[in-house]
Amino acid sequence: ATDAVTVLGLGAMGSAIAAAFVERGYRTTVWNRTSSKTAPLVAAGATAAANPADAVAASPITVICLLDTAAVDAVLDSLVGAVAGKVIVDLTSGGPDHARAVARWAEDQGAEHLDGKIMSDPPDIGSGPVTLPVSGSRRAFEAHEQLLRELGTVTYHGEDAGAAAVEFMAQVAACYELLIGFLHTVALVRAEGADTVGFAERLAETVGQLAGLLPTMAHAVETGTYPPDLGPLDVQAALMPDLIAHRDAIGVESVRMREVRELMDRRIADGHGDEGFSGLFELLAVAATPE
Ligand code: NDP
Repeated sequence: ATDAVTVLGLGAMGSAIAAAFVERGYRTTVWNRTSSKTAPLVAAGATAAANPADAVAASPITVICLLDTAAVDAVLDSLVGAVAGKVIVDLTSGGPDHARAVARWAEDQGAEHLDGKIMSDPPDIGSGPVTLPVSGSRRAFEAHEQLLRELGTVTYHGEDAGAAAVEFMAQVAACYELLIGFLHTVALVRAEGADTVGFAERLAETVGQLAGLLPTMAHAVETGTYPPDLGPLDVQAALMPDLIAHRDAIGVESVRMREVRELMDRRIADGHGDEGFSGLFELLAVAATPE
């Protein structure tokens, strides 16, 4: 455990992180490329450092939260030789390969490394619903878990530095897939003059019921047995032409619906019409296998 922490990057998210640490009584040192952004935090009790190396030197642990991975690389370049014996926690959004590259850099530099990915709005940091998957050095995680928990709900995903990013990328992608599907159905409902807000409220209930199906479907994938879930595929597929025709009639795009229909048809042609929707995974796995 530590009572001192450094934060590099004071954008909307970095400022919220630093403010949460200050509020909870941590001796907080901050640095930002545009130095004027340190003012509100200094007013709240933080100490501003003149450069990243001075900032890192002030605390056993440094949290980095910058715009993107390129910004992280730029700041790390200025920290060569300045992080030995320190713990570096990078909370900047990015993919697993970058997290692993930063882990190798930290190891070369004699530092311990954790990667974390923030799923929340800045105002929620430290008080609202914040999901924070973390991975990397177990020793560093156990030593500083308390500090990270000041920000939100932390889940540790193991020693592979890329694991938190894998979780984050999948979570974000699933949300986008769900939400673009939702927006298309809003267009569908709206085009027919129905109440979109009422529709959305009822759909929220449906999504809640669907949530229980996700672990069941993941289990089906893991075991390779696909019991009927939303019913057998034969029955599900029978509705697809109507779903697509409805969209076409109104002028709402149907690319994804056609993809679902095609996958169902292929699965049925392969002799799996009595199985569930989860079996479509078999076709995705084939498509994802590199040549
Ligand atoms: P902002 O745009 O508010 O801040 C970006 C920060 O990055 C600033 O401190 C900026 O410095 C710094 N920066 C950019 N380029 C460089 C560089 N080359 N060298 C040094 N510093 C640089 O972004 P946020 O704070 O909102 O986002 C930070 C991270 O948090 C991102 O990875 C984002 O994906 C993630 N996040 C943000 C959420 C949000 O809702 N805001 C939600 C979940 C995650 P300067 O002030 O000098 O420009």
